[in-house]
Amino acid sequence: MNRELVFVAEPDVGRITVEISQAPAAVVGEMAEDLGTPVNVNCGRPSSNPRHSFPILQPARQFSNCDTDRFSLWLYRLYHNSTVDGPGRRSVIAVAGCSIRCEGCYSQDTHERSNGRLVSISEIVAEIITERDSHDGVTILGGEPFDQPEAVAELVFRLKNRGFHITVYSGYKFEKLIEFGAPSIQYILSHIDLLIDGPFVKEQNAGAGEYRGSRNQRIINIQTDRLT
Ligand code: SF4
Repeated sequence: MNRELVFVAEPDVGRITVEISQAPAAVVGEMAEDLGTPVNVNCGRPSSNPRHSFPILQPARQFSNCDTDRFSLWLYRLYHNSTVDGPGRRSVIAVAGCSIRCEGCYSQDTHERSNGRLVSISEIVAEIITERDSHDGVTILGGEPFDQPEAVAELVFRLKNRGFHITVYSGYKFEKLIEFGAPSIQYILSHIDLLIDGPFVKEQNAGAGEYRGSRNQRIINIQTDRLT
């Protein structure tokens, strides 16, 4: 079976990131000998190093208690410094809740909303802004972002107003999202930069390429790609 490792080198800061989800344990061990002790930065295990991760925002808010912000999102976690969830160095907003339930999903902890917290969009945006000078954009993944289209649309609106490059992951295909016909979904699709679409298919995991979990998923440049 062909397996793939992706190396992201940042010579300006002397850092290298290796995407190891398909690597056998022995290979990971050998790389650790050559590269030093690994520090997980995202996916299933965000780093415990406070420089690389950000815990779930506190305090959790309920809509009815939000007097300063009527928009809230079910958030699983928020972290910074990801180099494998879209181009460049990114802040990542992982939503809680996914109704798709792909077989073999790596992020099963995100499937239930109750594993996350209801957090105001203002708090999320405020945290994203703290790292904007050292980051190239924001990625929204999950969970399934389009299970909360109104909240994600509001989030996209506020981030785009501040000039952020936005990547969104969805287990739905682009065509299915269009078919839903919801104004909030149309807003998201017409204002983000990249959509990485389609369910995770474990049989197509090998050789998926950068940013993707399986080969069926597409990286769609919303502004330039023509899918019809
Ligand atoms: S859509 Fe994403 S989070 Fe949901 S089951 Fe599939 S891979 Fe997992």
